[in-house]
Amino acid sequence: MILHYRREAHKKNTEIVVNDVRIGGHEVIIIAGPCAIESEEQMLTCARAVQKYGANILRGGAYKPRANPYSFEGLGKKGLEILAKVGKEVGLPTITEVLDPRDIELIEQYADIIQVGARNMQNVALLKELGKSKKPILLKRGMAATVQDLLFAAEHILSQGNSQVILCERGIRTFETETRNTLALATIPLVKELSHLPIIVDPSHATGKRSLIASMSKAAVAAGADGVMIDVHPQPEAALCDSEQALLPEEFREVVRDIRRVASAVDRT
Ligand code: PEP
Ligand code: MN
Repeated sequence: MILHYRREAHKKNTEIVVNDVRIGGHEVIIIAGPCAIESEEQMLTCARAVQKYGANILRGGAYKPRANPYSFEGLGKKGLEILAKVGKEVGLPTITEVLDPRDIELIEQYADIIQVGARNMQNVALLKELGKSKKPILLKRGMAATVQDLLFAAEHILSQGNSQVILCERGIRTFETETRNTLALATIPLVKELSHLPIIVDPSHATGKRSLIASMSKAAVAAGADGVMIDVHPQPEAALCDSEQALLPEEFREVVRDIRRVASAVDRT
């Protein structure tokens, strides 16, 4: 049996179209926005800026999986409403994370792409439910998952009939303590060998450090990534989640410019 994710199952690269954004095509896709949706004002300020500076898709978490249960866990449905409203206002498709299979139907009504976070990559019940969804799924690599584990996780979604899966390398846990995770860039060409699915990189969660985002974004694109996902916040020091890794909108503008330069050097846009 040929597994759905494998190149042999699907000779052409899978391209996923969301509104007018094509993921896995010629253009390198830039997803940007805050880690968490905090208020309509925060989201709108951020969305206007990232749209102006060249983002293709708007991110924002309404359900946040926090290590410490007393940290900000997101605005839930109110956050989804803000995300949809702001996305429409600035004209960008949206992505947000699902934690619980019971929230899938609600999230489907508000977001264009559904994200499975690192902590849920092997939540098989969640993956199977998402396999029945009509929405594209962004599947992030678990922090202790092998590339094969990631591909098998994708298979759980694909085997249920949802062919729209985007993979995301977001770093793995190693003995390194200077960075939040260790960004495994070889995952990109490896996945390209093994699979027809698009793969993007999240340099924000991979490094946890604002100063490393630009170089890791460029490296990801040079290595063949179909896109990057970058945390941007209008006031990073006041962010309720992951403040050390969020870029200011002006910093994001520079990173986008650098990404587009590298993209053209590797025959992408
Ligand atoms: C996120 O993208 O907001 C997130 C929680 O990332 P990860 O699942 O990769 O930790
Ligand atoms: Mn985060």
